[in-house]
Amino acid sequence: MQQRSARQTVAAKKANGRPYTGTKDGAAKGKRKGTEKFVDLLEFFFKTKNLGTWVVRDMRGKPGQLSVHATGRASDNGHGNVKKLEELADGLASHADLLGIEEIHNYSYGKFGRGWRCDRHAWKVYENEKESAGSIGGKWIHVELTPEMADDPKKVEEAFKQMFS
Ligand SMILES: [Zn+2]
Repeated sequence: MQQRSARQTVAAKKANGRPYTGTKDGAAKGKRKGTEKFVDLLEFFFKTKNLGTWVVRDMRGKPGQLSVHATGRASDNGHGNVKKLEELADGLASHADLLGIEEIHNYSYGKFGRGWRCDRHAWKVYENEKESAGSIGGKWIHVELTPEMADDPKKVEEAFKQMFS
């Protein structure tokens, strides 16, 4: 996964990068159906546990900065086995375009965790505590979907079908 040279990563970014939404779409009034479907399907196929989707709050360790959870597009998906979490994170990243994934945080990876983001279209291994924002070793993966996916449970279902076909 991490053997990619810096030059290849830059090339991949140019070829595959997608804009990152973050909190640009603002806080949602409630749960979004596509996000809820995504979490249900992860539970069904990968035995994860839904640790939360929509909640209006600030980012962990960053008061005053809205969490992407507030938009209703982020989910925390728990699993007791960190190896399984790592495999799931890799699998989701490799199907990120199909699944409409914008960001993945895999806190239990390595020493400080790692993050995948759609604009660089690659993983970044965290190098300090600040980057994992107080969640080092957390046995869950945080996943953010595109606004389109977050609102379209049928599209989420269709993407999972394609992923397994
Ligand atoms: Zn989260």
